[in-house]
Amino acid sequence: MIILFGPPGAGKSLQGQLLSKQKGLNWLSTGQLLRDSTDPHIHAIMATGELVGDEDMNRVIGEAIDKTPPEVDIILDGYPRKIEQAEWLLDKADQINRQVTAVISLEVSDEELVRRLHGRGRADDSSESIIRRSHLYRQKTRPVLDFFAKHKVRVATVNGEGSIENIQERIKQAFENAN
Ligand code: ADP
Repeated sequence: MIILFGPPGAGKSLQGQLLSKQKGLNWLSTGQLLRDSTDPHIHAIMATGELVGDEDMNRVIGEAIDKTPPEVDIILDGYPRKIEQAEWLLDKADQINRQVTAVISLEVSDEELVRRLHGRGRADDSSESIIRRSHLYRQKTRPVLDFFAKHKVRVATVNGEGSIENIQERIKQAFENAN
């Protein structure tokens, strides 16, 4: 399993889908999986920019991982977003004989992130929600990188600014170096 990491607006979903097509990976986006959920409670939480509870989140991502044929590698987008989820993932990986091979972290400046999110117009891209998600990223999600480094998972940082093609090429390189 590869983790595509970065703040809201970093381009994880676009780049994750491109990489998964090129490399035959199963792209699992928690944002997408949750938006597809029929549970109104989950949609209400997402609209505020808060994180969905670990129990719901781990069930949804766990089912998606379990549905993936063992020979197909997985790219995780939007997960884990806090230390508790990272711990859960390493346990899960152990249980099912998969490995977390690398974290690819997309780095984008704050000014560029705000510009991108305001231009995107998704249902949860109100100013309040954007501010909340950026705050949660710095407070809860960013520390996950150190957690993985401590657990001997390789962390590759990639410049997430520039043309889509250039960023794609950088991510591909990072992916190939990790495998
Ligand atoms: P963004 O990265 O731009 O915030 P996502 O589509 O990844 O967009 O996530 C949208 C929302 O889905 C988040 O604000 C949060 O409410 C929920 N979500 C996504 N991933 C997780 C997660 N790992 N844990 C808890 N909630 C999550």
